Formats: sequence, structure tokens, C-alpha cells
Amino acid sequence: MLKVNNLEVMYDKVILVLKGMSMEVPKGKIVALLGSNGAGKTTTLKAISGLLKSENGQVTDGYVEFDGERISTLDAEQVVKKGVFQCMEGRRVFEHLSVEDNLYAGAHTRKDRSQLKHDLEKVYHYFPKLEMLKNRQAGYLSGGEQQMLAIGRGMMARPKVLLLDEPSLGIAPLLVKEIFSIIKRINEEEGTTILVVEQNANVALSIAHYGYIMENGRIVMDGPVEQLLANQDVKEFYLGTS
Ligand code: ATP
Repeated sequence: MLKVNNLEVMYDKVILVLKGMSMEVPKGKIVALLGSNGAGKTTTLKAISGLLKSENGQVTDGYVEFDGERISTLDAEQVVKKGVFQCMEGRRVFEHLSVEDNLYAGAHTRKDRSQLKHDLEKVYHYFPKLEMLKNRQAGYLSGGEQQMLAIGRGMMARPKVLLLDEPSLGIAPLLVKEIFSIIKRINEEEGTTILVVEQNANVALSIAHYGYIMENGRIVMDGPVEQLLANQDVKEFYLGTS
């Protein structure tokens, strides 16, 4: 179980971006973190995955805990070794490497090298398109294909928790549906716990078990997905269906 407790984060020692952020991601579940632009969703993911320091960000209060252990003091590589892996927003694949080499790069912190081939097959099982494109230079992939590659690379790290930052960003609606249904299958078949940050509330809530809504650095509402989908404010402000 991943737990964020009363977290405060500052950038450049002056800008307070998270102002007492708390959430929980139970083992084996998909949790959606929703909210408008600038609410602090990406910052929350970076605080979990140890990527804040490289951006001059700092946890000034609260903590992140994973399986009972504080991880908010660890650096990014140590967090990956604990089993928490963040797929980057904007995809950020290694453009000059082939698709397959990008996938192998996802496994660089692992010691059990003998299983790599098996895990590669598994990624291709979920993303047959990546197998077709395995020798292609990653920079030439479409946005949707790069998103698949980013998730596949995450799987190669054999994470217990996969953190996804806006997987729908800049991708055609049909492909968004396909990618989200694959994310759901990875959760169901591999048991991978997933925390997905999204501005597209409709698609995120279509696969999640539980949702949190964030505004201005803290959680303003949370609940099981059925409850959120029935809420009038959520319908009006986040789903555009009221
Ligand atoms: P979006 O969906 O637009 O990515 P978000 O909810 O993920 O929004 P964050 O990216 O976490 O929000 O940003 C929260 C606030 O922190 C914003 O006001 C942003 O300008 C600020 N911020 C983000 N990164 C930095 C940084 N490296 N240095 C200074 N301020 C930052």
C-alpha cells in the first residue's frame, strides 16, 4: 500500500505547491488522481517517485510511505528498486534507441537478468504493436505508440506500483480507449497496483476503482468510482455530463 500523508512540497524554497496532500493507493487497485491544470498532480507523482530534487523541489512536511516504509527521503533510483515506477508525462522515450532497446532500458535496475526475455514477451503480449515496431527508432513512433512504449518500459522494471502521468495526453480518442483498456488488463492479470494522474476524468474513472480530486495543492473530494460518477459536482465540473 502506498500512502501520501499530509504532504507539503515547495519549489525553489518559495512556491508552496502541495499544501497538505493525503491519499492512499491500496495494493492491487487502480486509483485515479484528477484535477485541473496546475492543481499539483504531477508534483504529487514526483514526490512519490523521488524526482522532485532534480527540479529544485523539496518535501517540507508530511511523508510518503510504501509498504510501511518511508520513501520520501529516497532518491529516484532507490524508489524504483523498492518497486515504484513512474512513466513520464510527455512520454520521454530514448528517441535514438530502438523500441526494444528502450524496453530493455526499463529494466536497468533489475538484477534478475534471466527473466528479461520473458518479460519482454509479456510486454509484447499486451502491446502487439510494439513487437511489430521493435526495431524502429523510438523517435519515429506516433504519440500513442510512444505512450505504449513508456508503459511497456515501466513494466520491464517489474513494478509493484506503476505511476502514470496523463497517459491520454495528445492521443487520439480511439487510441486512448485502447491504452486504458490495456492498463486495466495489466492491473487485473499482473496484479500491478496503478496510480493514474489524468485531466481526462471520464477515461480515468472508466478503469479506476477509487478516485481523488485535487485542487490547489490538496484533495477536495474522494470516493469509490461509482460514488464519484453519481456526484453532481463531479458530473458538472469534471465529466461535463450534467
Ligand atoms: P498539469 O496537469 O498542468 O501538469 P498538475 O496538476 O500536474 O498540472 P503540477 O505540474 O504539479 O500540476 O504543478 C503545480 C504547480 O507547481 C503549478 O503552479 C506549477 O507552475 C508549479 N510547478 C511545477 N513544477 C515546477 C518547478 N519545477 N518549479 C517551480 N514551479 C513548478
